[in-house]
Amino acid sequence: MGRITVVGSYVVDLMSRTPQLPKPGETVLGGPFQMGPGGKGGNQATAAARSGSDVAFVTKVGDDVFGKEAIKHFEREGFNIQFVHRSKTEATGTALIAVDDQGENDIVIAPGACGTMTRSDVLKAEEEIKRSQMVMLQLEISFEAIEAAIKKAVHHQVPVLLNPAPCVDFPQEWLKYITYATPNETEALGLTGVEVTDALSAQEAADVLHEKGVKTVVITLGKQGVFLSKEAGKGAWMDGFSVKAMDTTGAGDAFNGGFAHAIGSGAPVEEAVQFGQAVAALSVTKMGTAASMPTQDEIKAFLK
Ligand code: ADP
Repeated sequence: MGRITVVGSYVVDLMSRTPQLPKPGETVLGGPFQMGPGGKGGNQATAAARSGSDVAFVTKVGDDVFGKEAIKHFEREGFNIQFVHRSKTEATGTALIAVDDQGENDIVIAPGACGTMTRSDVLKAEEEIKRSQMVMLQLEISFEAIEAAIKKAVHHQVPVLLNPAPCVDFPQEWLKYITYATPNETEALGLTGVEVTDALSAQEAADVLHEKGVKTVVITLGKQGVFLSKEAGKGAWMDGFSVKAMDTTGAGDAFNGGFAHAIGSGAPVEEAVQFGQAVAALSVTKMGTAASMPTQDEIKAFLK
């Protein structure tokens, strides 16, 4: 079984439905309300663990009710929780989500504890990083923590997957240490200035990232699938799976978790992309983010 260390965010999703989103200063009545685990780090860790990997999750939660619930969720998913830190001062991260009848949403993320992760929080997990087949990162925690994880992974020759999400500016010199970068089309545009509309523009965007040092570029394009480029000028489209989509939130997280699991288990990159796409396709057939990640048995049955 592959070992993966995820260094990333955890927030609790607090979601209310409402007929229409409130205007500034307005209060609207909403319902029903749903609460569940979220954050890109937690979602990707869940997808990888359910796919069958041994996952260590390096994150930080508050010393509060949401923090306790988070740890219960991590235990249920079988994560190694040795490096889940508790902040004495910051609350557990939250995402306040309102979704209207048209499916439009408003989201306020307060990263709280996971936004205050330090270099030393990450360094405590050095031995775990060293024995992992992959370190998986996103951009929802402090840059100090991300940089420490990249440096330790590189030092121990562990491949690094960076899912450059959400779309924020980050130090470009990180890119030369990245084995797998997995932007969606919006993030690819933000990173490279190239709007991905077809294979030619996808390759152009991938080549900008290769030029900056990324080894393998995987651009995800929703239901259109993935553009995979292992070498400048040599990329190819890989179609996704056709399913009846219910809720596409977290599709990227599902893809990353599944892809990382397959790479960590020794699969060739093309096979890993298809595994990730299967995990993502299954996840969009259910409501929710972490909760919609498929199990190993569901993935096996789907790929038969
Ligand atoms: P993000 O959630 O980061 O925007 P994407 O929308 O690009 O990510 O989705 C990631 C992957 O999930 C896609 O490459 C594809 O494999 C899968 N996926 C997304 N939407 C669908 C869909 N409607 N049907 C099937 N697969 C999907």
